[in-house]
Amino acid sequence: MSSTLRTILDKIASTSQRHGTNGAVRLVAVSKTKPPELIRAAYDAGQQHFGENYVQELVEKANHPLLCDLDIRWHFVGHLQRNKAKLLASVPHLWMVETIDTPKLATSLNSSWSNLALPQKLKVMVQVNTSGEESKHGCPPEGTVELTNHILQSCPQLDFTGLMTIGRLSHDYSQGPNPDFELMHQLKLKIVDQLGLLEEKVELSMGMSADFEEAIAAGSTNVRVGSTIFGTRTYN
Ligand SMILES: *Cc1c(COP(=O)(O)O)cnc(C)c1O
Repeated sequence: MSSTLRTILDKIASTSQRHGTNGAVRLVAVSKTKPPELIRAAYDAGQQHFGENYVQELVEKANHPLLCDLDIRWHFVGHLQRNKAKLLASVPHLWMVETIDTPKLATSLNSSWSNLALPQKLKVMVQVNTSGEESKHGCPPEGTVELTNHILQSCPQLDFTGLMTIGRLSHDYSQGPNPDFELMHQLKLKIVDQLGLLEEKVELSMGMSADFEEAIAAGSTNVRVGSTIFGTRTYN
């Protein structure tokens, strides 16, 4: 576990140095379907950020005796239904929700978070369906400015942090740069310009096991790596 993590962190560091992001790239270890024991081993090896896709699974893990007292920073990276916003907000050590894709969902999460009366805002990202595939969630690229603006203007308990995409799962890099990553860069420039944001304050969450180095080269500051850390997943 610790040598796998070390290898990935080394690759992240060298890629981010080469591309000017300079160490400011966060590794989120995506632990969906993996048991608390493996998450604990990664935490003990120094990993702090973990990502989960299903609300119920995250609730169980965040409250698990092996994990509940640790200083873990949980990222929710799965599709969120509005009727689960309240349950998700109640998760201890929830640090970021990366998958806001409608104004209504943002509003629900804002009010759930506000009911908890915590001192800190909840960090969120806008998920964009950059590939336009029907199987993918996310707001359409042309809705990014409006949804971001809704969060900034109408959701005072949410801290807008950046944009997230899953994108096409297999891009052949010998054919050129990944169009999903390029589109994300354009969308970032667009919201910076149209909403008056600081460019260095807008993060991009993109890149998984297969392509996190290419994603960093394209401007990612938050890579989500699962199977390379924890092994391939089996679903029942
Ligand atoms: C599962 C998942 C990942 C990790 O994928 P790997 O290919 O196993 O690294 C990253 N992001 C999201 C949104 C996921 O659902």
